[in-house]
Amino acid sequence: MSIQTKKTFAILNFKDCDPGRCDPENGVCAAVAACAHKVIYQIDGVFEQPMINQNLCQGCWDCMDACPLDAIQIKNIGS
Ligand code: SF4
Ligand code: SF4
Repeated sequence: MSIQTKKTFAILNFKDCDPGRCDPENGVCAAVAACAHKVIYQIDGVFEQPMINQNLCQGCWDCMDACPLDAIQIKNIGS
């Protein structure tokens, strides 16, 4: 029998995320600045979709609240 720990983390909905639409002037992802844990990055630069390090994500919802296009959701796995 395995013991599962509950994990909550952010996922990006690639269909809805568009840095050129949420910040047409600079292409900066508002969710990156909102993440106090620094686990969401625009690794390919501005105007590119961010990446979320789900292993380190704390599931705090701050990025979700910051995204004007509702492109981030919180997912729960485990028991
Ligand atoms: S996650 Fe939201 S705020 Fe970040 S680039 Fe995508 S649409 Fe913009
Ligand atoms: S849920 Fe919290 S820790 Fe995870 S990426 Fe979003 S702001 Fe960062």
